[in-house]
Amino acid sequence: MNGGGPPDALLLAKAHYPVTTLGPGTRAGIWTQGCTLACPGCLSRDTWDADPGKAVPVEAVLGWLASLPGPVDGVTISGGEPFQQPAALAALLRGIRAWRDDRPHETIGLDILVYSGYVYTRLSRTEATREILDMCDAVITGPYVDRLNPGGRHPEGGSLLWRGSANQRVVPLSPLGRERYGALAGIGNTREDAGPRVQVSVDEGPEGRRVYYIGIPRRGDMEHLTSRLERAGVRSGDVSWRP
Ligand code: SF4
Repeated sequence: MNGGGPPDALLLAKAHYPVTTLGPGTRAGIWTQGCTLACPGCLSRDTWDADPGKAVPVEAVLGWLASLPGPVDGVTISGGEPFQQPAALAALLRGIRAWRDDRPHETIGLDILVYSGYVYTRLSRTEATREILDMCDAVITGPYVDRLNPGGRHPEGGSLLWRGSANQRVVPLSPLGRERYGALAGIGNTREDAGPRVQVSVDEGPEGRRVYYIGIPRRGDMEHLTSRLERAGVRSGDVSWRP
């Protein structure tokens, strides 16, 4: 974990609403840019480079959140590796919590879920990261391990709800977190995801049109998808899941 940049600037890969595949309900998704963990088989290699050109003020991300039409049942922060920007992550979480507290009381609780490639025991070791954990309702921790992702042809089938590989741990950290994530807590939980695992978003940006797959596919799903698209005459070009 490095020290990150200034607390008021976040290296941001992407923000998207609605996200329905990374946590319960309809959510806002924020992906940080920069990850040095280099898990073999990572599907998000485009988020590895800690490109300073991706810095945005934390206030701008909070402004985007506040502008969402709703409903927002939760916020999911993933990456990249969010904990490699501890100061900006803490500032973002403080802002999200302040915004949540200001929302009308009749609104259903909005939970904050953060993904990390670090194991929980490492995150809970230092005071700075413990302060971040205290602001989350739940975290999903641990590196992605490709062989522990039940592939589409796995004899037991299915996929792990909101997790990429079976070593990853769901850790509820608040009463709301326990209410929403408690059934998934612990290592070895193999609850399957019956719903959609991946959603598609198409963004027009300065680099042209990009297609994002949001969610957690099973091992082999992305290769299967690109070969089907190619058979249908759609060329995938550069993809984030290949070196
Ligand atoms: S799976 Fe996550 S933690 Fe691992 S290399 Fe990819 S972005 Fe980093």
